[in-house]
Amino acid sequence: MIVHVDMDAFFASVEKLDNPELADKCVIVGGISDRGVVSAASYEARKFGVCSAMPMYRARQLCPRGVFLAPRGSRYKEISRVVMDILGSFSPLVEQVSIDEAYLDISGCEHLFGTPRDIGGRIKEKIREQTGLTCSVGMAPYKFLAKIASDMEKPDGLVVISPDEAAGFIESLPVDKVPGVGLVSGMALSRMGITTLGDVKKYGETVLVRRLGKFGTRLFELASGIDRSSVAPTRPVKSVSSEKTLAADTRDKEYLKTYLLEQAEDVGTQLRQKNLRAKTVFIKIKLSDFTQVTRQASLEYMSHSAEMLYTAASGLLEAYHPDRPVRLIGLGATDLIDSQTPVQQDLFSDSSRRWEKWEKVESALDAIRRKYGKQGIARAGGWKDKDRPPGKDKK
Ligand SMILES: [Mg+2]
Repeated sequence: MIVHVDMDAFFASVEKLDNPELADKCVIVGGISDRGVVSAASYEARKFGVCSAMPMYRARQLCPRGVFLAPRGSRYKEISRVVMDILGSFSPLVEQVSIDEAYLDISGCEHLFGTPRDIGGRIKEKIREQTGLTCSVGMAPYKFLAKIASDMEKPDGLVVISPDEAAGFIESLPVDKVPGVGLVSGMALSRMGITTLGDVKKYGETVLVRRLGKFGTRLFELASGIDRSSVAPTRPVKSVSSEKTLAADTRDKEYLKTYLLEQAEDVGTQLRQKNLRAKTVFIKIKLSDFTQVTRQASLEYMSHSAEMLYTAASGLLEAYHPDRPVRLIGLGATDLIDSQTPVQQDLFSDSSRRWEKWEKVESALDAIRRKYGKQGIARAGGWKDKDRPPGKDKK
């Protein structure tokens, strides 16, 4: 799930926070000369038709009794930092898009903080506690939908579009709500008889590209439930991992490996989404008496290949002889570098070519999964039935 957090009328709200006398006033922040433009308008001022980016002289005409203030950038930045730190405590994947707006990827954080709705509620609560301000939160399986969701119940909103609801929502979504659809493309679309994102599918991608250029492809993909944009964290990710507490404690290594394979796939996918490669893989094991052990190994090549992660991790598991049954197993990747960084590779060795092939295969799998969902395709090893009880503990 992707979360979009947007502070409500941010600059105007900060002014009200710092000066309680402004509480119920129309507060308008921006360039206060007549040549300036509005940066933010409180909700009271919006009732008069004032909105951001409007020329200031127009705002004064619409709302003559408003309080007009010049922006205090450093104060806004100070509060922005508090907000972004709060968001960082929910997920390592935070992409700040402006001073008062950010995306978070909370995939995998559910076990820490509860359902998406719980997480959204806690984000709002913490921001209100620590800054005294409200924000609107939108949550959805796609980035573009999360942004639309945060706008739906502003101010102080919380809108969750579950993965089950997403397709229906996309189908009936007015195209002019889609980020990127402006006046010109909006007119082109309405000439084609397209009013909702669902209507887009009446046309093939080629036609859309001919009429709208590159944006045609994007629109076609969004209508088909494909959003290639992911949350690009503005702070570095130190490690990526996945773990599972087992239904019953076990010493059965083959059974444990089925989890490692699944976790390697999960970690590999996360690395590829974040454009990262790992130098080190680790396994984490918690035993029945809650002692915790980690073992790590360097990878032969910096990689984001699940196959490579799994091979290294299962080797670590083989070499480890636990003195008690295992209750939790996890796999992680660390020593991460940006995928774009050139990697020294031995071009002529067979093993290097083998891993390169795996990386290509897995990128193809990602594309299929983006289109058909996680169940669209799975590796043969992953089909081992998890319902099979683990092997008996040998004393
Ligand atoms: Mg805002």
